[in-house]
Amino acid sequence: LAEFSSDTVGAIWNELLVLSGQPGVCNLGQGFPDYAGSRVAREAAAAAMTKPAMSELNQYTLPSGLGSLKSAICAYYNKCYGLQEGASRKRAISPENVVVTVGATEGLFVTLHALAGPGDEVIMFNPGFPWYLNTTRIVGATPVLVELHGPDFAPDMEEVEKAITPKTRVLILNSPHNPCGHCYTKKEMEGFARLALKYNLFVISDEVYENVTFGGVKHLRIADEEGMFERTVTVCSASKLFSLTGWRIGWALSTPELLEGLSVYHGNTSYCAPSPLQHGLSVALEAEDGLFEDIPKLVEGNALLLGDALREKGFAITQPQGGHFLVADTTPLGLKGLECAKLLLTQAKVGVVPGIIFYFDDPKNSNGGAGGKEGADNDRPLLRFAICKRRDTMEEAVRRIRAMV
Ligand code: PMP
Ligand code: GLN
Repeated sequence: LAEFSSDTVGAIWNELLVLSGQPGVCNLGQGFPDYAGSRVAREAAAAAMTKPAMSELNQYTLPSGLGSLKSAICAYYNKCYGLQEGASRKRAISPENVVVTVGATEGLFVTLHALAGPGDEVIMFNPGFPWYLNTTRIVGATPVLVELHGPDFAPDMEEVEKAITPKTRVLILNSPHNPCGHCYTKKEMEGFARLALKYNLFVISDEVYENVTFGGVKHLRIADEEGMFERTVTVCSASKLFSLTGWRIGWALSTPELLEGLSVYHGNTSYCAPSPLQHGLSVALEAEDGLFEDIPKLVEGNALLLGDALREKGFAITQPQGGHFLVADTTPLGLKGLECAKLLLTQAKVGVVPGIIFYFDDPKNSNGGAGGKEGADNDRPLLRFAICKRRDTMEEAVRRIRAMV
């Protein structure tokens, strides 16, 4: 089994995908489920692809998406979050509030293109999902980092406010958080809303893990705060909601005015998401086939199992409140993240992601990171374990970790 040899974050990520995917490795690296995604969605998509009577579902949809999917998305959100027509907060959505994208990745990409450009500053939390930094750089805007502090990795509103300047245009939020598993509280939501209104900011709210929360924590939406619907684009994903990461379908929710801008980019890149898969999701959303209850329970159980094993081994654990990941601090073991990831891969054959991938201030991060000192040792003592896995996969990983010397 080869060791990591690369020294840039993008290259480490790609190398890790290959190494963690080798036969015999228990892969807790990239966040994808190893259980089957929605059966209802897959069967409905297969029918759309093969039944002659459904052949029109194999041609383009409107760029904003298949009508039946947009309607099903609205019905799901309105019911799930108790959204009401005409309300000043928790306002119901209708199809004009939806654009179906090629995954949340495209959703983030086109939204950032529409909302920010050269000269603008975009605030994001550090650590965070690497695509925020990369996309902000691609649009030519300046990333501004606000540090999240362990052990709970909750945002500090004073630090957020200090990061705001007259150039700040967008605040990127993510709850449940990748990688740290923090879910924003009502007080934090109110804090973000107060800042967005006071400084006239747009919010991009990445809520791809919205249905996976633990221990009775309820997912809250920033768009549901007073005055926030008009300035928020909520980015969502079928990758996570239906455990179908390879389908590449997501959606952006906002006002028709905000969606108009991102639709220009969407219409000129992917044009529309795959039609038969959109159909499959529309059927699955209407069927509510139990995935919404079973998967969060499975992932929560995995977090407890893995958390206990890692604690026994001496890691400091932040038990996640939601999402698909658990982060472990390697400091008590006297190891850095990358070093420890290599040990787990070579000794235990367990693939994980080192914290370096999520720290935007690391000079090795894409194009030199954002604000890191060249040559500084920023290999943070953090590891991320994907817990969106079958129970037997998690039990095997735990067995291997416990057996490590
Ligand atoms: N946001 C976050 C926080 C993620 O972890 C991911 C990865 N799934 C995405 C966005 C992109 O999701 P998608 O597969 O829908 O492109
Ligand atoms: N969201 C997943 C992760 O964080 C996958 C991201 C990707 O590879 N595009 O691991």
